[in-house]
Amino acid sequence: MKNSRVYNFSAGPGALPLSVLQRAQEELLGFRGMGMSVLEMSHRSDRFKQILSDTRENMRVLLNLSEDYHILFLQGGATLQFSMIPMNLLRDSGRCANYVVAGTWGKKAVKEARREGQVCVIWDGEPEGFSRMPRPNEWQSDSDAAYVHLTSNETIHGLQMHWEPEAVSCPLVCDMSSDFLSRPIAAECYDLIYAGAQKNAGPAGVTVVILREELLERVSASLHALLDYRVHVGADSMYNTPPVFSIYMVNLVTQWLLQEIGGLRKMASVNTEKAAMLYQVIDESDGFYSGHVQADSRSRMNVTWRISDSKLEPIFLTQALRRGMHNLKGHRSVGGLRASIYNAMPLQGVRTLRDFMHEFREEYSH
Ligand SMILES: *Cc1c(COP(=O)(O)O)cnc(C)c1O
Repeated sequence: MKNSRVYNFSAGPGALPLSVLQRAQEELLGFRGMGMSVLEMSHRSDRFKQILSDTRENMRVLLNLSEDYHILFLQGGATLQFSMIPMNLLRDSGRCANYVVAGTWGKKAVKEARREGQVCVIWDGEPEGFSRMPRPNEWQSDSDAAYVHLTSNETIHGLQMHWEPEAVSCPLVCDMSSDFLSRPIAAECYDLIYAGAQKNAGPAGVTVVILREELLERVSASLHALLDYRVHVGADSMYNTPPVFSIYMVNLVTQWLLQEIGGLRKMASVNTEKAAMLYQVIDESDGFYSGHVQADSRSRMNVTWRISDSKLEPIFLTQALRRGMHNLKGHRSVGGLRASIYNAMPLQGVRTLRDFMHEFREEYSH
């Protein structure tokens, strides 16, 4: 099996750890002596309830989350959260929602929020071509804002926030879809964190929403049940049938992080090492390769770059593919190249890419 697997640099759904996939394979036909698959199991069964509560517990340990926070497993992707957040926290509030827009995902979040009420973009990276994150203290929120919304890692442009926001006087909401569980965070800074699982935490189909209990007091009274955070909290993420298999996979990934990796501090140090390898090749290439992003905002999850002669990019992709490196093409909206090196991308995969980048440059630079 190992030999037939390629290095998958996909931005999402992203690669999963091999040992997690193998475990899922072993347990696919019969889950731990039950004689049935998790795919077939009632979500009301004790075994599934155990999976759900273990997953939550693992996450609490990994993120050092206090009991003040609820952990929900929802559907609809991070994209539905673009709508659910303003539905729950902006609708009927008479307040303004503040958004920091550092890339495409932040922009999409604003578009949905505007349907629910007043939105104020308090920092916008678009005039600078989404080439950097805001610096600490570069934005100021309204003191009575409904909430402030940030995106910690802009997946498409390859930008990441490398500082934790200071406490603000209103709820702080963060889209962590593409760097969730990749590093330790100061969880107590945030009131709501959300992440589609398919970048770092598991497969597509489940979205983790972590929210502070106090936030529930602000929820609008006019919501449909499935769109109301209070309903999901009250039903323990089982108001309707949850995505049982996706949650089980998140369970395996969190176990892998705890037992094989040894926690988020260790994970972050591997991720930092991986990213540094690629940025070093770019920086030492005498302009053959160039990164789009300013150094202080470089993402450790999505490395984006170009080749100075853009005609070489398709050749780069073809040759990389031949060497077993897949999905290195940049997002269609920005072009260039992108290597997504989430938690599950092994060091060896990044070394292979680094060595190839060196060789390619030697062959094609004159
Ligand atoms: C992928 C991504 C999304 C969208 O996630 P879906 O689960 O496809 O809805 C939103 N925000 C960020 C930062 C992402 O990387």
